[in-house]
Amino acid sequence: MNETSQTPVEFNQCQQAVQRLNEYLSRELNPDETELVQEHLKQCKGCFDKFHFEETLLKTLREKVSSVRSPAGLRESVLKLIGRDAAP
Ligand SMILES: [Zn+2]
Repeated sequence: MNETSQTPVEFNQCQQAVQRLNEYLSRELNPDETELVQEHLKQCKGCFDKFHFEETLLKTLREKVSSVRSPAGLRESVLKLIGRDAAP
């Protein structure tokens, strides 16, 4: 099974953007990568929606978590809920 199917460039860009999504949202990307992601978001509605949704979700969760002075256990379950590991 070889994967020589014609992959549109856009698709690859989306894939890369999605791969960076978590890092972007948790601000783990360096400025260059952040810029790449942001550039892609300007051009790609699909990814923009996805990023926007997750960013909003994360912001909301973070606000909730900090507003209850997050006991460690709660913070962990929230992180699990949003699919990120609490592990370092
Ligand atoms: Zn995209």
